[in-house]
Amino acid sequence: MLILGLETSCDETGVALYHTERGLLAHALFSQIDIHVEYGGVVPELASRDHVRKTLPLLEQVMAEAGVTAADIDGVAYTAGPGLVGALMVGATLARALAWGWGVPALGVHHMEGHLLAPMLEEEHPEFPFVALLVSGGHTQLVRVDGIGKYKLLGESLDDAAGEAFDKVAKMLGLPYPGGPHVAKLAAQGNSERFDFPRPMVNRPGLDFSFSGLKTYTLNTVEDCKIDGVLGEQDRVDIARAFEDAVVSTLTIKCRRALQQEGLKTLVMAGGVSANLNLRAELKRALAKEQAAVFYPAPQFCTDNGAMIAYAGAQRLRAGQIDAADVAVRPRWPMDQLPPIEAA
Ligand code: ATP
Ligand code: MG
Ligand code: FE
Repeated sequence: MLILGLETSCDETGVALYHTERGLLAHALFSQIDIHVEYGGVVPELASRDHVRKTLPLLEQVMAEAGVTAADIDGVAYTAGPGLVGALMVGATLARALAWGWGVPALGVHHMEGHLLAPMLEEEHPEFPFVALLVSGGHTQLVRVDGIGKYKLLGESLDDAAGEAFDKVAKMLGLPYPGGPHVAKLAAQGNSERFDFPRPMVNRPGLDFSFSGLKTYTLNTVEDCKIDGVLGEQDRVDIARAFEDAVVSTLTIKCRRALQQEGLKTLVMAGGVSANLNLRAELKRALAKEQAAVFYPAPQFCTDNGAMIAYAGAQRLRAGQIDAADVAVRPRWPMDQLPPIEAA
């Protein structure tokens, strides 16, 4: 079964072709970072308009690369939410139109289920059940996963997402949007002994997170270090390091706790922040002590992409799930409302 996947929930246009027997045949991504960078964040209307421009050329590109024609495609999967309503509408409308024209089913995919299942695209992929840490620009969640659509939310951020905190700290340090990779690069040069930032909520029981206090603590440190309104270069790198260390160790502590609570030995990490090399290394180190394994997507599939949507859609379409023919998107959509599917 060959499935076309379209991702347009935010500021990247992703298109991919996934075959249930042959795997990922082709994928293409256009990131709108250059369009939004001068505004310091995503401008929704500009995002929608650019998705309109990029989806069809990317579709032609992946079809040519995979050597397939429209007649080979058995279904269309698109991100139906959560995300920016206008951006979602572009992908949904195109997906619906293509499916109608080709006479194949279409299915709206949950963006976070896409992230969650992205590690399944790897040759070495996890087996259910596992605990997933979803860390992205809009979400920080720990989820127990017993199968596709069998999700139990164990904990989540009560305020900012981890990626959002990275982006805000980047701004404080004068780095461009999206800030995660830039903060990580600065942090690599920093001295981890100089500051000791708080690890939010680790001393409280439970699996929830909070990153807003850490963000304020970082801002206060930035202000304290400034001399005549200017932050020195050594201060910048040391603050980036202290912030990253605090996020990494907070996430690691909660992941261990979640595995212990659920009695599981497999952790899956996904979403943009899971591209962070220190987070990957620290989780691997900490979980090895408990004989637990960590899985994550290839770096290009940590942030938004079409491949994860094609994969998630393919699993559901293969199980016979089809949506009605209206163009419906869900800017807000709790993941535990998804229907379960039984493994084939
Ligand atoms: P969501 O998936 O929650 O709707 P999103 O789609 O905007 O949000 P992603 O595309 O999954 O989020 O991830 C983008 C986020 O990941 C940004 O906040 C970015 O700063 C962060 N990020 C990317 N790479 C890194 C990195 N190496 N270290 C830390 N953060 C990173
Ligand atoms: Mg993005
Ligand atoms: Fe995302």
